Amino acid sequence: MTNSSTNISPPKSLTLLGSTGSIGQNTLNLVRDSPEKFEVIALTGNKNVKLLIEQAREFLPKLVVVADAALYSELKRGLSGADIQVGCGLAALNDAAELNSDIVIAGIVGIAGLTPTLTAIKQGGIVALANKECLVCAGQLFIDEIVKSGATLIPVDSEHNAIFQVFDFEKANSVESLTLTASGGPFLNMSLSEMAAATPMQAKSHPNWKMGAKISVDSATMMNKGLELIEAYYLFPVEEEQINIVIHPQSVIHSLVNYKDGSVLAQLGTPDMRTPISYALAWPERMETNTSKLDLAKVGNLSFQTPDHRRFPAINISRNCLKGGAVPPIILNAANEIAVDAFLKNRIRFLDIVRIVEEVLAKIHFGNLNSIEDIYSCDIEAREKSLEILSGL
Ligand code: NAD
Ligand code: MG
Repeated sequence: MTNSSTNISPPKSLTLLGSTGSIGQNTLNLVRDSPEKFEVIALTGNKNVKLLIEQAREFLPKLVVVADAALYSELKRGLSGADIQVGCGLAALNDAAELNSDIVIAGIVGIAGLTPTLTAIKQGGIVALANKECLVCAGQLFIDEIVKSGATLIPVDSEHNAIFQVFDFEKANSVESLTLTASGGPFLNMSLSEMAAATPMQAKSHPNWKMGAKISVDSATMMNKGLELIEAYYLFPVEEEQINIVIHPQSVIHSLVNYKDGSVLAQLGTPDMRTPISYALAWPERMETNTSKLDLAKVGNLSFQTPDHRRFPAINISRNCLKGGAVPPIILNAANEIAVDAFLKNRIRFLDIVRIVEEVLAKIHFGNLNSIEDIYSCDIEAREKSLEILSGL
């Protein structure tokens, strides 16, 4: 909708699920730089109430939700006197997702984002999806709900956002394959014995991207690329064997679409999540951002290599999960969430993460999935098995 006399569009209303995280804060940075373009109507967080209160006082949404109910009174106290509704727990997260906003940013980490993101999709609006774990666990359910509600899903994950920008959806059969790029993470050139001794601090220090703790560790194991392979399968009309992965340590080419005529289209940019987030916020237009712009001469060289599956088995484990149908990816994700959390708490060593995932995958045999409840049951069973294995270590 455009005001023809002034050519100024009304502000778009935004709901941020996971506003206190890395994706959430990057989104609010963009809003802060273009206040005339956006109106924040809901913010949600989990534990960082202090930041949630600060964000609420700055952006004055209608509703603020803290997922952890134990922190409700602290949030309520912090926002006393402000004309802002306050809620807690899953039901309130769903209330936030149900608000009539133009765009919902799905920036919660892990399967915790599944129900609120699905609720957002059911409203039929635009959902800017960062939370890859919900597609990994419930990809088909998501696609079915999108078809039913008419929602528009815009991928925010940089690789999928890149493919979204260059994929010719009207001539999908002219596409031969997709190439997801992977930085290789902080341990790209480490030996297995060095990795065995890697600390959470080292694993969280990504060379190119500043992100939340869980995805940073996933990048170090390269489980992140495995999850992204599954994410790509659900987002784009391609088969598993049409999705390739190449290591590209500079993170300048964010991913590529290979067409049957030999053309390869890619999206490039400096590694800054504000670019893909801004694409989703402005879609179908584009907006200016304060990101540093790509200077190829300064970058100098772009390099590529094949992933080393001996040191980074997580990619092939994920590929096999995808080949195995809807159940294995749920187990993969649950075991990985538990193992990454244990590693971050120094309870296990770095190489144990993928080992635990493999063990849980071998031990859980779940029946058919017919509903979201089945997805949660499978997730819980895999988490319990992961914790059991952990307690025996
Ligand atoms: P983060 O840890 O920085 O933030 C996670 C957000 O989720 C926080 O707001 C937190 O409060 C909220 N949250 C955590 N547990 C919750 C729960 N149980 N209930 C409700 N809310 C909860 O994570 P992030 O790096 O911003 O990543 C968010 C998602 O985006 C992940 O799925 C990640 O894979 C994806 N992603 C992130 C980046 C990035 O640059 N950070 C890039 C691509 C994709
Ligand atoms: Mg990514």
